[in-house]
Amino acid sequence: MYTWLRKQKERIISPVLDWVQVEVTTFCNAACIYCPHTTAREGWQNFHFPLTLFHKLLPSLNHTNLVFLQGWGEPLLHPDIFEMVRLCKKWNKKVGFTTNGILLNKENIHTIVDLQLDILGISFAGATPATHNHIRQGTDFDTVVAALEYMRRIKVEKKVTKPAIHLAYIMLASNFDELRLFFPIAKKVGARQVVGSNLTLISNPQLSREPLFNHPQQLNEYHRALIKIKKEAADSKILFAYRGPGLDETSLVCPENVCRSCLVNVTGEVSPCVFTNPILSGSPGKAADKQMKVVFKRRSIPVETFSFGNINNAEFTRIWESGKYRKFRRLFNPEAELSAGEILAGMPPFCKTCYKRLVSS
Ligand code: SF4
Repeated sequence: MYTWLRKQKERIISPVLDWVQVEVTTFCNAACIYCPHTTAREGWQNFHFPLTLFHKLLPSLNHTNLVFLQGWGEPLLHPDIFEMVRLCKKWNKKVGFTTNGILLNKENIHTIVDLQLDILGISFAGATPATHNHIRQGTDFDTVVAALEYMRRIKVEKKVTKPAIHLAYIMLASNFDELRLFFPIAKKVGARQVVGSNLTLISNPQLSREPLFNHPQQLNEYHRALIKIKKEAADSKILFAYRGPGLDETSLVCPENVCRSCLVNVTGEVSPCVFTNPILSGSPGKAADKQMKVVFKRRSIPVETFSFGNINNAEFTRIWESGKYRKFRRLFNPEAELSAGEILAGMPPFCKTCYKRLVSS
């Protein structure tokens, strides 16, 4: 009776959000060279999000539009991923996740199409097998493209349009030349959208040459190329969304929609984005020299992640409405009309050193 009442109350008072990202797993079957899962593998903690906790969370998402089952891991490794999709659908949520594509076999493709998953994101790091497979180690370009072509055929046969295919291309100095070649592939697999992301979490000093913004002499060239690519993509009816390539050092705007979205991480911690996800800080009590560090302005600094509470111990809505979380959101709410000094003074250390905030819009 108490559980039923709790669920009903949570359902009614839950916040109105655009999306909630749920980190369903921190296991991964790939070893992308730029991912903290690879660069900070020592001490990395692998967990699956418990299905019981997912059941507990769902009433709190009553007024949330989209549930994105994604964090620092490969969602298709979760033994209950399709049950989670089913549950979201039962609660009338839009649902999606991004995969590295390794497990997009025929059986999983049929299940995804039959479940009417709304968005399927697939990560790429090149337009040729040599480049993609070198950067996204453990994945295979040709296999992933073939799987997406198969999915396209199945959708046509079943006369359905879901899932919408969104391709994510990480734009690095070493693969930028291939970005343009990627769009014919996107068209071939029926993608509606390509998102060009920047490397904004530099978790290893050896990666410092990869972010586009670390090449000031080439920024104009990158900028012109991106405009041209966007136009060509639009002509092929593909939306190309990107930020950058340069930095806006004065930016105080968080691009992660933190006032109307958040992350629930694999252990139930609620934080604003994947970068502030406590899983990146590693196991509690980890020796300082083993703590994950990121490179910011040529300095190596420890990752200071944070959470506003854990849904194992408190209702999601109570965490979202807590004074501390409200205070944080106010910093990034344009309606609060805070001065630059007030925003900077209140910003958590990790947001102060966040390249995602500084990449130009
Ligand atoms: S400023 Fe950066 S670290 Fe802070 S919430 Fe936004 S994206 Fe996350």
